[in-house]
Amino acid sequence: MIKFNAGCNFCPHHCNTDRANGEKGICNLDDKIYISSICSHMGEEPPISGDSGICNVFFSHCNLQCVYCQNHQISNNEIEIESVSLEKVIEQITKILDTGVRSLGFVSPSHQIPQMTRIIDAIRAKGYNPIIVYNTNSYDTVETIALLESYVDVYLADFKYADNSLGEELSGIKKYADFATLAIREMITQKGTSLLLDDQGIALKGVIIRHLVLPGHPENSIEVLNRLADMSDSKITLSLMSQYYPAYKAMEFPALNRSLQQKEYQRIVDYLDCLGFKNGWIQELESQDTYQPDFNNEHPFEKTN
Ligand code: SF4
Repeated sequence: MIKFNAGCNFCPHHCNTDRANGEKGICNLDDKIYISSICSHMGEEPPISGDSGICNVFFSHCNLQCVYCQNHQISNNEIEIESVSLEKVIEQITKILDTGVRSLGFVSPSHQIPQMTRIIDAIRAKGYNPIIVYNTNSYDTVETIALLESYVDVYLADFKYADNSLGEELSGIKKYADFATLAIREMITQKGTSLLLDDQGIALKGVIIRHLVLPGHPENSIEVLNRLADMSDSKITLSLMSQYYPAYKAMEFPALNRSLQQKEYQRIVDYLDCLGFKNGWIQELESQDTYQPDFNNEHPFEKTN
């Protein structure tokens, strides 16, 4: 188990706060477990969801504050979330795994690393051995990713910005591009560039990189693709996403106050092709309506009307 020590430096904010003694850093959390939803989810990439879905644990709060966050209800603590006991978490997860779901995903875990490893240890102690998916915004340190080698099977990692100043403007953090590049390199070092699938097409080991194309920022997407091509010889499995819609504070940023246009998305798709990426998925532009979660619901991704 990974434990909190006297100063929390698990993510690049390096707050050095004593969370085990109740201090809170930029993520605004102590050392307890804070979860907004545990549910079976079909909406991830095919080797992650498979036919039965993945059991996703959505941690609350976040170490980023993206102005366009589609999960702002939970990342920005708009829905008040109490800490939850480890026993309760394990009960909910095992109930889902008992239905035949094989993968266990942790969504936005970068600021709850010790909590995540406590959950994984407890699940394994009960005799379960799900495929562990670390679904991260990639604002992680290399040191933390190195600690996770024996815990994580598949890294499902965003690469949001290749431009530090854009990360600062839109997510309120310094040096996102630098930290994410190093973290993703470490993920690739651990798991390789090939995605290992079983005979049912489920990912057993590897790295999948997601990039959400933002309206009005084509140069950023192009540079993200350049970096990924450079660090993986264009072999990495890539998930290019078009599901952006103006959410949260995006309306305050003129370039972000609209959906993606076909022409600007196609430019990125063509560039990806030009760089020789062959593995992965290109999301349809029509996906914008499909991915609008509501964390007030027990199942955030199911429409209630
Ligand atoms: S996990 Fe939270 S407390 Fe720790 S360094 Fe990151 S923001 Fe700061």
